[in-house]
Amino acid sequence: MRTKQFKAESKKLLDMMINSIYTHKEIFLRELISNASDAIDKLYFRSLTDDSIPLTRGDYKIALAVDKENRLLTITDNGCGMTAEELEKNLGTIAKSGSLDFKRENETGEDVEVIGQFGVGFYSAFMVADHVTVESRAWGEETGSRWESSGAEGYTIEPCEMDWKGTRITLHLKDDTEDEKYSDFLEEYRLSELVKKYSDYIRYPITLSMPQYRPKAVPEGEEAPEKPEYETVWEETTLNSMVPLWRKQKSEVTQEEYNEFYKGKFYDYEDPAVVIHTRTEGNATFHALLFIPSHAPMNYYSTSYEKGLQLYSRGVLIMEKCADLLPDYFSFVRGLVDSEDLSLNISREMLQHDRQLQLIERALERRIKGELEKLLENDREKYEALWKEFGTQMTYGLCMDYGMHKDTLQDLQLFYSSTEKKLTTLKEYVGRMKEGQEAIYYGCGRTVEAIDALPQADQIKEAGYEMLYMTGQVDEFAIKTLREYDGKKFLNIRTDEIDLSTEEQKKALAEENEAAADLFAAMKEALGEKVHAVRFTDKLKSHPVCLSTEGGLSMEMEQTLNAMPGRENRFKADVVLELNPDHPVTAKLKEYAVTDKEKLADYAKLLYAEGCLIGGVPIEEPAELCRLITGLMER
Ligand code: ADP
Repeated sequence: MRTKQFKAESKKLLDMMINSIYTHKEIFLRELISNASDAIDKLYFRSLTDDSIPLTRGDYKIALAVDKENRLLTITDNGCGMTAEELEKNLGTIAKSGSLDFKRENETGEDVEVIGQFGVGFYSAFMVADHVTVESRAWGEETGSRWESSGAEGYTIEPCEMDWKGTRITLHLKDDTEDEKYSDFLEEYRLSELVKKYSDYIRYPITLSMPQYRPKAVPEGEEAPEKPEYETVWEETTLNSMVPLWRKQKSEVTQEEYNEFYKGKFYDYEDPAVVIHTRTEGNATFHALLFIPSHAPMNYYSTSYEKGLQLYSRGVLIMEKCADLLPDYFSFVRGLVDSEDLSLNISREMLQHDRQLQLIERALERRIKGELEKLLENDREKYEALWKEFGTQMTYGLCMDYGMHKDTLQDLQLFYSSTEKKLTTLKEYVGRMKEGQEAIYYGCGRTVEAIDALPQADQIKEAGYEMLYMTGQVDEFAIKTLREYDGKKFLNIRTDEIDLSTEEQKKALAEENEAAADLFAAMKEALGEKVHAVRFTDKLKSHPVCLSTEGGLSMEMEQTLNAMPGRENRFKADVVLELNPDHPVTAKLKEYAVTDKEKLADYAKLLYAEGCLIGGVPIEEPAELCRLITGLMER
């Protein structure tokens, strides 16, 4: 018998499989089972129109069996089978472009991980076996054929006796090594685990026959022997559950089942907060089962967290974490998508440009948004709990991509309100706006209390307006990206010009400012680069001083931006030292401006420090501040 050579590209892939150091060698089983399932599908469809095929749905199965002694694992199906020519064509060449694509990616240096992500087909058997036999008999054929190969040397095909139709693949497992215990693939627990993991939803039963060594049953009436006799019996168990939960009707699934499914699959100890079970037909046909967890995983806000949904193609898992299915701002969603339209052999590169996938992503995004909105409306407490866990991510989403996700995200945001003393939405805020109120006022700081104590908050409160407290690191950036909501501008109480005074008050202030030009100049000189200007303001009520900024950059943003690596001190806010003209301290300043310039300089520095402290801005020169305070006490 002549040994035939594999076609060139097949040989290359085969070599890779044989020498694979890939850690997920286990996927070979998924590949062989899904081939078997496809073969049954083919026969099943043929049987619908071909009366010579007497099988009905319940007759089909995929049987696994092991022979530990000889290190053999067999996978048998009663599907369409292959003729000798088909064996030659299918197993001697790589027909599918998917596998070729995979190879190309690999040659360009991309991680061999792709093996695990996409179908690599029949050859994956050589990751775990040093010899593979395929016996197959197609419907309509009198005999079967046997294909055999030990890998690189090529393969043989010869006729063989077969009294049944279908395909049996026999793997002779490689010898165990220090790193790889191939014999694990002969263990019931391992096979059952793998079927559960990758092939649980194959529509035909996947059975495992294992010899069980157990005491012989004692015939009725006979006495049990002192030493029980043992016998080996073959037992068959079905390993897969066949109907995936997500392919069932919603009405057939209980909340309990959803919860258990989620916890088991995603290793969470808490029930999910929201379950989204959906089936879509039309442009993209898919089933999706999504969960919003009740709490963020420990690593959620770190780079080690990977977003993504499991991706199935007709019940077969093809990707553990498909990131392209979820926008970043909903990265906390877990779950899976099962699409009818994706091929098992699709490559990562192709996946990224897959139109189906994009359609699915968009549909899921709309759905998640809708569910969150519903929750916000119907179960505020639950929504607020979720907001606490994942809100930062959704606020962050507002800043991303030049604010293009505004419509999706702005109504999901919650901020603490000065008047309501609880979290509120922008819509609710606008609904409460007073007559004549033109803007949405907000303050930024580390805590609600700190913002509340800001001198600039006084005028907003006195006017009876509501204020939002932005305590999150990205809040201010998000608001800056939004710029307005429902036609109402956002105004930062500390950085934006807020004009709540009457014409008369304005005129009086302008006059006072003009008269104090010398005082301001002297103070500015004492403070140097720290401030951009000094002036009176009428926004202060009880406080003598506050720091405000001009231009787009606030002191908080300055800090956040400068804290980024490589950006140290690149950003500088234009700080204005604003004084309360009616405060007793101002009278002192005016006095010292004439009598004691040195004292005035010290006071200017003290007031600047006071502004920093109350604004939550770190003091640059604490020693200098202490010296000034001590000096003051001595006097
Ligand atoms: P793919 O499944 O992506 O086509 P494979 O290398 O896994 O690539 O298989 C090549 C071909 O061999 C299949 O397309 C199918 O026609 C045939 N084949 C594989 N396994 C079986 C089987 N158990 N029964 C019938 N045909 C099979």
